[in-house]
Amino acid sequence: MDFRYTPEQEALRKEFADFFSEEMKHVPPELDASMEAIFDLDICWEFHKQLGKKLAAKGWIAMAWPKEYGGRDAPLIEQFIFNEVRGRYKAPGVDPIGVGMLAPTLLVTASEEQKREHLPHMARAERDWCQLWSEPNAGSDLASLTTRAVRVGDEYIVNGQKIWTSGAHRTDWGFMLARTNPEEKRSRGLSFFLVDMKTPGITIKPLYSMAKAHMFNEVFLDDVRVPVGNRVGEENEGWVASQMTSNFERSMINLFSHAKRELEELVEFCKETKWGGQPLAKNPLVRHKLAQLAIETEAGLAYSYSVVWNQIKGGLITAAPLAAGAKFLATELIQRLNYTACEIMGLYGQVADSRWAPRRGKYQNYYQQCMGLNMGGGTSEIMRNLVASMALGLPRSW
Ligand SMILES: Cc1cc2nc3c(=O)[nH]c(=O)nc-3n(C[C@H](O)[C@H](O)[C@H](O)COP(=O)(O)OP(=O)(O)OC[C@H]3O[C@@H](n4cnc5c(N)ncnc54)[C@H](O)[C@@H]3O)c2cc1C
Repeated sequence: MDFRYTPEQEALRKEFADFFSEEMKHVPPELDASMEAIFDLDICWEFHKQLGKKLAAKGWIAMAWPKEYGGRDAPLIEQFIFNEVRGRYKAPGVDPIGVGMLAPTLLVTASEEQKREHLPHMARAERDWCQLWSEPNAGSDLASLTTRAVRVGDEYIVNGQKIWTSGAHRTDWGFMLARTNPEEKRSRGLSFFLVDMKTPGITIKPLYSMAKAHMFNEVFLDDVRVPVGNRVGEENEGWVASQMTSNFERSMINLFSHAKRELEELVEFCKETKWGGQPLAKNPLVRHKLAQLAIETEAGLAYSYSVVWNQIKGGLITAAPLAAGAKFLATELIQRLNYTACEIMGLYGQVADSRWAPRRGKYQNYYQQCMGLNMGGGTSEIMRNLVASMALGLPRSW
């Protein structure tokens, strides 16, 4: 197979690479590709926002969206190349929740007014979003959620609690699933809403991760008034809209590309670090672990290319089970990479904030943060269930 880009695509890739190579010279050292750091630390959030403005000025945030909503009608492959390069440079600047998850839903299901109201703000990096879905008793089984929205005139009055809401304390708006028909226990009674996070009645409380960062939140909703015009799609049909959130450029190329860069840095570390008088790179066990990771990374990159190819040829819905596969392949690869890095470093791999901490302690930090990667946005088990039922045609349950 020929994986080369056309000369035009190659020129575009170089333009992205030149841009990120320059901009990432100014990245705060605390950031280092960490989602937790972006939401936790002011300096990292500011860098993310400023980079977002620069990307928006170049028209790169939403390249594949229609022009009327702030995009430039670019082919999906150009968005893919952008994501690949951004992953390689471990660069923030794109709202992963608004641009990555909500926008696909809006493009397919929202009213014209809603699209014109929200999409251009996302493309200009002016409005960040959080996802108000999970509840204390509804995670994988999201359809069992109990947050209630009752229609009164032109508004819904919302009461309930959300949990694990990444970035709720930083973001401007949230997209929420709430129950509008209490008679229906499952997905048929849910509606999809866009909620201004400054609305009275919303209380946000931090939940600290095991790496001590403030990314997650609990969000309490007490008599929160949401205009009817902020409901996306029909009442009680929010489930359909919610299923669109994972249907855009979802090849996970940014994570595979990020993994490749991390692996290169780990290989460098093993070449330059001695253990027992010999470079780690000469140790057969270390070499085998690195070789294994290299194979998995290259296989992941190739898989990612096949996802985007299928998305371009067969459409986003057809490629949905492949995208579900990419999610668990990529997140589990990043986990294995970080666990292996800590293993290779031995006890030094657990050290932070010390001159003994290799690479400023980033691997112990990554080790803790990557635990949640294969849970957020749907766990690996749920993704495997999707592949089993959608791609293999197996029954949905026992
Ligand atoms: C990093 C991160 C970011 C997150 N950000 C957000 C956010 O911004 N907004 C938001 O709403 N939520 C967010 N979440 C929550 C996330 O969506 C849930 O954690 C996830 O859906 C799993 O739900 P749960 O934690 O309740 O686990 P459960 O659903 O209770 O699952 C527990 C275990 O059982 C397994 N399991 C459950 N059902 C099945 C099944 N049918 N078949 C096989 N195995 C199954 C799961 O895979 C898991 O291993 C985030 C989570 C993480 C870790």
